[in-house]
Parts: sequence; structure tokens; C-alpha cells
Amino acid sequence: MKAHSGNVGVFVRIRPTAHFAQGLVECLPDGQTVNIYHRRDSKKTQDSIKGRPSSWSFRLEGVLQDVSQEEVYDRVCHPLVQGAFDGYNGTVMCFGQTGAGKTYTMTGSTKSYKQRGFIPRALQQVFQEIERRTDFSFSVQLSFMEIYNETLLDLLSPVSPLQDSTPPSARGLVVMEEPGRGVVIKGLSLHPVFSEEDALDLMFEADMNRVTGSHALNRNSSRSHCIFSLHIESRSRTLSEAKYVTSKLSLVDLAGSERLGKTGSEGQMLKESTYINKSLSFLEQTILALADRRREHVPFRHTKLTHALKNSLGGNCNTVLVANVYGEAEHLDETLCTMHFARRMKNVKIQPAVNEHMDPALQVKKLQKELVTLKEEM
Ligand code: ADP
Ligand code: MG
Repeated sequence: MKAHSGNVGVFVRIRPTAHFAQGLVECLPDGQTVNIYHRRDSKKTQDSIKGRPSSWSFRLEGVLQDVSQEEVYDRVCHPLVQGAFDGYNGTVMCFGQTGAGKTYTMTGSTKSYKQRGFIPRALQQVFQEIERRTDFSFSVQLSFMEIYNETLLDLLSPVSPLQDSTPPSARGLVVMEEPGRGVVIKGLSLHPVFSEEDALDLMFEADMNRVTGSHALNRNSSRSHCIFSLHIESRSRTLSEAKYVTSKLSLVDLAGSERLGKTGSEGQMLKESTYINKSLSFLEQTILALADRRREHVPFRHTKLTHALKNSLGGNCNTVLVANVYGEAEHLDETLCTMHFARRMKNVKIQPAVNEHMDPALQVKKLQKELVTLKEEM
């Protein structure tokens, strides 16, 4: 697999428009341009658009409209999973307002098998690939984390942090940077998985923990960011081969990007809005800074989200963004915000490289063997 053309790959997925509503988001025949129009048929709209352009055009890597879950997966996620087997890190992020289809894209719907999203499909692809590559041995580990109000929660921790009364700081989930490894989440549980079924069971557990947690704390799951990660290590079965490759595949379902007004919200809601606005606006600032190549000023550490995603944003990673939008007129402003974010993301450069390592024990064995051969020759 090659690097993703040097920039973050950006797709827009348009949620199917109800047949009675007028769709204002249109994909052009090139499959890469999306046009967004004002509806000009009402007095109210006429008044509100004074001084604004009447249409907007955005060109991206792909526009996904009336496209099945399978095709979306094949175009967006499949190449990244393939790349992970060659030692490239990969990240897919879904961004957009609540209800636009982020979770549908990432996890899918339980209504039918056909409606499975990226996570279950990626797990299937991973284990099919492992079965196919008989000359390699693999280890796959999985983690699932949620960021809520600047707190990191392990959705697969044996002691559920969501019911535990220990303060998060004492539970010790911390974003850290380690030389040679980049960003790691200290304290996050990593679960070895040996089959697709194993992995799906853990996904189910994580979902249950998320639901129980959100009920216990009386909060809405669209107010948190979710990061699912697969760590893959592959080694040649040839014993003399000291090299091995590793990769990390992250699938990120971001919190709803709508600007939450502070008016009317209080208590918990106000706190949530403040944190979401903060983390998503820092994500945007991080992206702007990266696109400007002002790397030394990139505010990664300002929020947990940008810090946790540091490797995925303009780093050693094949990164793809899916901008999820509604097609209906009433969502015009939010759709434009999402598209502007997508346009900025397109300018971010990526530098994926194969994560190749040397196994010191095997290397020593190999050298010893060479020494014996040399001695015999002498
Ligand atoms: P978000 O996670 O962005 O808040 P969801 O993914 O939960 O939004 O989507 C909201 C609702 O719309 C869900 O019931 C979902 O099944 C449905 N939906 C979203 N996108 C699509 C799509 N492309 N096709 C069919 N249904 C969709
Ligand atoms: Mg969602």
C-alpha cells in the first residue's frame, strides 16, 4: 500500500434526504465535487441570504451519496486496513453534526448485516487477511476509549471506570509521548484478540459500558468522542528474520460538531457544551496550524482529543476524514461548517512510513549463526 497521496484524504458522505424534503446538497458527476445551494423559494430564506453567496462548491477526494455501507467501506477504510498489514498506521475520523451519520458510518446499524459499519467490517477484513497470509504470524490487540468532558474513559477496563467512584486522575488514563512510539495512552487496557468473534464480543461489551455509563451519568453519547484502536504486529515465520512490523489502526467517532449555545443550558449541559466546543475548536486550530506548516506552534496538547490524535494528524499515519452531512435545507449552516472543516483538513500533509523494528533476541541469534559459519569457513 502506498501513502495516501501526501495529504489527508477527505470524503463527504451525504445522509439520504427524506423524499418530501428538498435536497440542497448535490454531488456532481465527477464524484468529487459537492455543490450546496440555498433554497430560494421562501421569503425567510431570501431575507437570510442577503450578502451571502447563493451556492458553494467543494472538491474532495470523493463524494458519497446514495452509496451502500459496503461501498463506503471499500473506498474509505479497506485500503487503510490493507496498509496496516504492511506496517502503516491508519486513522479514519467521522466529523459532523449530531444525526448526520457518524455512528452509522463507524459502527453501523444493528438492523441488518448489510448495514454494518467500519468497525465490524475492519475486524472481518483483519481476520480474513490473517488467514490468507500463512507465511506470517500476527498478534492483534484492541482498545476502546471515550473522551468525555476532557476525561479519558476506558470502555474495556475490567474495573469499569464508569461505575467506579475513584476520580479519573487516580485511575491513571493519561496521554503520554514516548520516544520512538509517539503518543500512547498510559493505563488504557489492550485486549489480545484471536478471532473476529472475540473482537465482536469486546465491541459489544464496550457498547454496553458506554450505554450504562451514559445512563449512570445522565449524559448523551453524542457528547463524547470515541476512539477504537487495533494494534497489529506481524512477523515472518522464517525464524532467521529479525525484522517485524507493527501498526495502529484508529477509528474515531467524534462528538457532534454543532455549536452548542450557552443560552438555555445549565449545569451538566453547559459543562458538556463548553468541553465539546473547546475540543472541537482546538481540533480545528490544530488543523489550521498543520496546514500552515507552522508545526512548532501546533496546539496538540491543549485538549485530550488533539493530544490523543497527535500521531493521526499530519504524522506517521494514513489519515482519512469522512465529513458527514445532512442533505436538507434546515441544516445548511451546520453543513457549511462541516464542509469548511473538511476543506481545511484536505490541506494537512501526512507522512506515513512503515513501522519496522528489529527483534534484538533474534538478531543476536542470527549474528551468532553467522559467526559460526565464518569460523567454520576459516
Ligand atoms: P450521528 O452519529 O452523526 O449523531 P447517527 O449515525 O446516529 O448520527 O445517525 C442518525 C440516524 O440516521 C440513525 O438512525 C442512522 O441509522 C440514520 N442514518 C444515518 N446515516 C444514514 C445513511 N447513510 N443511511 C441510512 N440511515 C442513516
Ligand atoms: Mg453518534
